[in-house]
Amino acid sequence: MQPEPVRLMPPKSKASVAAPGPESGPSGPRARKAIRSVWTPDSLQGRDYHGRRWVYTQASVQPRGFSVGINLSPERECDYRCRYCGIPKIDLRAPGPVEGQELTLELEQTLQAIRSGELFRHPAYRRFPSDWKTLSRVMLSGEGEPTLCPNFNEVVERLVHSRARGRHAFFQLVLETNGSGLERPEVLDGLGLFTSQDEVWVKLDAGTEDRFRFMSGVDLPFDRVLARILAMGLRRPVVIHSLFARVDGSPPSRSEITAYLECLGRLRAQGAMIQRVQIRSVTRPPAASGCSHLPLGILSDIARQVRREVGVEAEIS
Ligand code: SF4
Repeated sequence: MQPEPVRLMPPKSKASVAAPGPESGPSGPRARKAIRSVWTPDSLQGRDYHGRRWVYTQASVQPRGFSVGINLSPERECDYRCRYCGIPKIDLRAPGPVEGQELTLELEQTLQAIRSGELFRHPAYRRFPSDWKTLSRVMLSGEGEPTLCPNFNEVVERLVHSRARGRHAFFQLVLETNGSGLERPEVLDGLGLFTSQDEVWVKLDAGTEDRFRFMSGVDLPFDRVLARILAMGLRRPVVIHSLFARVDGSPPSRSEITAYLECLGRLRAQGAMIQRVQIRSVTRPPAASGCSHLPLGILSDIARQVRREVGVEAEIS
């Protein structure tokens, strides 16, 4: 069972968990303009920005510890409209570039706050088990689709550089994506900097065209979605990230699950390297979505079928 997400109380000062930084950095006047707290008490995303713009922290269940997240979609830009998405979307517009220098400063401050233990002195984290108080990974994720970021490659370069400096504990890089930008040269260049320890998590929530369109809210040929996963899976191992939900009270049909398993099987047969499959369900989606949580027993059953019929490791995440 997932623990309740951890949220910081509004910081007393805008740099309450940050290491001292230059006035032009995230604790300076510019960042103060961007300070926001998008997460309401109803949100289960569990992301804490600590007054920063691009970088947030999030308690993660697997592996136990802290994820530092990089939000490449400051205006929640995403080309999907998933029914279960807990993040209200505005009309699609191309995201602007990430301000790389600002991101680097924010990342350094966040990593320093984790390393020094300053982050965990905040009341919201004090009771955290000590073995969770470590950095586990840095996620390219956020409030929209990260592969739409126009300077994706620069962002990855900055993260890789920060890791290579060795000032903080080693962290894994993870890209969490719906797959839509995986063919972009900018993204391919950035992913070329990922090592074998880093991971690419690609969304696959359906096994049929109808279910895909219904769940994603986009009019995109399902074959195209699968082709993108295949193309990435031929380049490097991918983690398939799948969400199943009750919709209007009904779980996914047996035929839908069969079709999903067949998709995975076809991808493998075509040569895609599937590292593992993550099965999850919704936590608290928008009330109007009609989506609700699937019991653990059903999720476990899907994971069992993935292991048995596709021959790939599967976990409930
Ligand atoms: S792809 Fe992710 S961010 Fe975009 S609508 Fe779907 S769940 Fe939300």
